[in-house]
Amino acid sequence: MHDDRKLLESRLKRVLDERIRPAVYPESVPLQVEVWVAPDEPVPVAEGIAAPRSPIAVGERWGRPWGTSWLTVSGTVPDAWAGRTVEAILDLGFDRNMPGFQCEGLVYRPDGSPVKGLNPCNSWVPVASPARGGEEVLLHVEAASNPVILDYHPFLPTDLGDKDTAGDEPQYTLARMDLAVLDEEVWNLVMDLEVLGELMAELPVEGARRWEIARAIERALDAVDLQDVNGTAAAARERLAGVLATPAEPSAHRLTAVGHAHIDSAWLWPLRETVRKVARTTANMTALLEQEPGFVYAMSQAQQYAWIKEHRPEVYERVKKAVSEGRFVPAGGMWVESDTNMPGSEAMARQFVHGKRFFLQEFGVENEEAWLPDTFGFAAGLPQIIKEAGSRWLLTQKISWSQVNTFPHHTFSWEGIDGTRIFTHFPPVDTYNCSMKGSEIAHAARNFKDKGVAGSSLAPTGWGDGGGGTTREMVAKAARMRDLEGSARVEWDRPAAFFARAQAEYPDPPVWVGELYLELHRGTLTSQARTKRGNRRSEHLLHEAELWAATAAVRTGFPYPYADLDRIWKTVLLHQFHDILPGSSIAWVHREAELTYAAVAAELEAIIDAAQRALAGDGPGSVTFNAAPHARRGVPAGGAAPAGSRGGATTVTPAEDGYVLANDLIRVTVDGRGLVTSVYDLAAEREAIAPGQAANLLQVHPDFPNMWDAWDVDRFYRNTVTDLTDADEVSPVPDGVAVLRSFGSSKVRQRLVLPPGAARLEIHTEVDWHETEKFMKLAFPLDVHAERYAAETQYGHVFRPTHTNTSWEAAKFEACNHRFVHLEEPGWGLALVNDSTYGHDVTRTVRADGGTTTTVRASLLRAPRFPDPQTDQGTHRFSHALVVGAAVGDAVREGYAINLPERTVPGGNPVEPLVTVDDDAVVITAVKLADDGSGDVVVRLYESRGGRVRARLTPSFPFDGVTECDLLERPRGEAGLDLRLRPFQLRTLRFSIV
Ligand SMILES: [Zn+2]
Repeated sequence: MHDDRKLLESRLKRVLDERIRPAVYPESVPLQVEVWVAPDEPVPVAEGIAAPRSPIAVGERWGRPWGTSWLTVSGTVPDAWAGRTVEAILDLGFDRNMPGFQCEGLVYRPDGSPVKGLNPCNSWVPVASPARGGEEVLLHVEAASNPVILDYHPFLPTDLGDKDTAGDEPQYTLARMDLAVLDEEVWNLVMDLEVLGELMAELPVEGARRWEIARAIERALDAVDLQDVNGTAAAARERLAGVLATPAEPSAHRLTAVGHAHIDSAWLWPLRETVRKVARTTANMTALLEQEPGFVYAMSQAQQYAWIKEHRPEVYERVKKAVSEGRFVPAGGMWVESDTNMPGSEAMARQFVHGKRFFLQEFGVENEEAWLPDTFGFAAGLPQIIKEAGSRWLLTQKISWSQVNTFPHHTFSWEGIDGTRIFTHFPPVDTYNCSMKGSEIAHAARNFKDKGVAGSSLAPTGWGDGGGGTTREMVAKAARMRDLEGSARVEWDRPAAFFARAQAEYPDPPVWVGELYLELHRGTLTSQARTKRGNRRSEHLLHEAELWAATAAVRTGFPYPYADLDRIWKTVLLHQFHDILPGSSIAWVHREAELTYAAVAAELEAIIDAAQRALAGDGPGSVTFNAAPHARRGVPAGGAAPAGSRGGATTVTPAEDGYVLANDLIRVTVDGRGLVTSVYDLAAEREAIAPGQAANLLQVHPDFPNMWDAWDVDRFYRNTVTDLTDADEVSPVPDGVAVLRSFGSSKVRQRLVLPPGAARLEIHTEVDWHETEKFMKLAFPLDVHAERYAAETQYGHVFRPTHTNTSWEAAKFEACNHRFVHLEEPGWGLALVNDSTYGHDVTRTVRADGGTTTTVRASLLRAPRFPDPQTDQGTHRFSHALVVGAAVGDAVREGYAINLPERTVPGGNPVEPLVTVDDDAVVITAVKLADDGSGDVVVRLYESRGGRVRARLTPSFPFDGVTECDLLERPRGEAGLDLRLRPFQLRTLRFSIV
């Protein structure tokens, strides 16, 4: 037989596009449209509905960037349509190629109750089925004219990303505003033909099934009268029934479809718009759940539920009802889908605490899966946190975005730094926006790497990023693929049901140890440095506020600010969302984040100050508080002692070219260029800086990635570098040296300080940054031969090699650390600690004399121009310290110390810590009162060095008993005060108050 595939495929495409799809709505009449434009920000629904309207017609431009237009559409169902299905088609000027990235609307009835959301792939509104002739239709649309930021030529700088710079130019043209008759037979014919046509294209040409489908499609198209599609659709469908009814093969892949809309809590839109995006999508999804009995929808991020509850109570009622029926599934159990590289230990834990608690309190639902489809890599501290929160599964698909290496499994056991293993699934469909296209389903089945031992995968199904969710078309297509020869079997289910089944069929999956590094988006560890700083400072201020408020509550009856701390925690957790903390949002988001972090700092400083004053009392003198988890200069960890000199001295001596700083422990040489040419450990009689090299070297690289500007730094950035070796001024200051430099359009002011009695050189850097598309690093070439280095992560540290033997290692050319990186030769090491940077690299070279130089570089600033064209312009502050002769325990200690400086307040009372521990390897990360308001004291601690430890915890307050708890402070059983901890083990203890 002649091969006529191409001919048939072209025929199917043209007939669908030009005849069958247009016949889905065979008759329509225009609706009357009127508009009111809100003067500025969105208004409450009642106000929008009541506002005066003026006429607007289809074809007219509407909608300034970020504006809100309230449209009213009205009309009458023609008598001739009685008994038929009538819908409103409301096309705000959509481009079907970009759902969620442009204008959107939420449709309300006159009483303010929501009907459904409008987006480019979902512009119909139910009116009546069966309709009555003469029925009046009146609907209101809250239409948001969100501008397109990510256009067909992506990553071009645009001023549209902030209301303040976006201008007033209308963004959209009102397209279609009609009442129309829906022909369900034709709509179903479209679904039949799409499913079969898309399946056919994926099947092997040599196989019979492909040809059976081809001939059936041909017969169906022959049956369609192109001048009377509506009259012949049923006959065409009859000719497809046979090929749609043949069942799937026994070995067919099983795909669990989960209705979903990955809604970014902020990204190419501000936070306030996400509130409305969530309302639109959930209104759509509760409506779809009512229409489709087998459909299941899952939504993550407790924050998004909290937003609907507060701002759209009428939508929330529908969500609560659907959740109680078990088909609208709260997923993931985190406050937001956060970044997981950068959040600190406690913050990562609190993401789960606040997320899971919200779902438990609102819905009585406990999640056992972490749901992070889009997060940019996964820190190796996460498995233990997931387990300690009472969960056991993880889902993400993001690692499929890695540029170099293909991950070997889709279902596996992920082992973290402490040995905890979490059953993990990467959906092989490789998207969180599955739309039930045949190509996606076939890709999932083909791509699945665990064939032969497992046969199930999950497909998050629905328009995401900017929202939209699942459509009725996706549900219809899934139904046809439930049991269809040649296709994977598709079935809707809850994520938990999928995980339980997948784990049962694959009880002993392969193991992946250590971080899940995303070989992409490495620039997100540095972009928007003020957002990073805000996060780091907020995390440590929260630590202090809880510690001192709890101490003051137990000691003095100070009122513990439960509600304030709960609210502030949630604000900080929200800003760890995977496009805010990574610096990949529009200017509006980061401008607001800066203000929010300032407000958070002011509130927390006030709580800290009030608690410390209550503790310090009214006596004369002053008291120094130490919030760090290790004793410092005579002040106990978590306590306070009378202020005073702690002894020791530093000398600053002019040298031939520069200055020499010295104390009892180290001697530092700063040359006339302001570079550090020597850091000498006096006790070990050992030089830290590589011979002939200089540390505190600022290096500037060009930085213009091939795409995803704020996200990516591409490897070739290193090919070109400018060393900033010219100083405008180098001058002595107390205990150190000040350095001033100018370069490009920018200035750097540094203070290099050697504190008395400390084996660390502090470098305080202030940059007035006015570069574009540049990457600035602070370099320390060290005379250390080390195969690997340690980088702090949540509740411990992760090791990475310093070499690039394999493609996996080479791909990690920019990585994340929290407060320290540490490297050592046996018996002697160094740490670089910081107060607000995350990105870094560690490389090695071998010198002519055979010695190895290991260079540690902290990433300070970038200046990408998309999506925020002004990224990182202005003033930034960073503190780093090079700690000499440091074991990993010293790195841990100095990391906390630089982030939790001492505070001295007036008063005469020393403060005994609430709890002490007799081994510095055990670090207390939280001392707080229990969230339930009982007054119980909660203490969280972990083993910080990667070893085994026995230690004794000593509380200094009366208590009834102590229990071991999970992160949510739920008791698991009795605990003692003699602790034995495994490497990096995390524990939560709860002391009942007498
Ligand atoms: Zn996302």
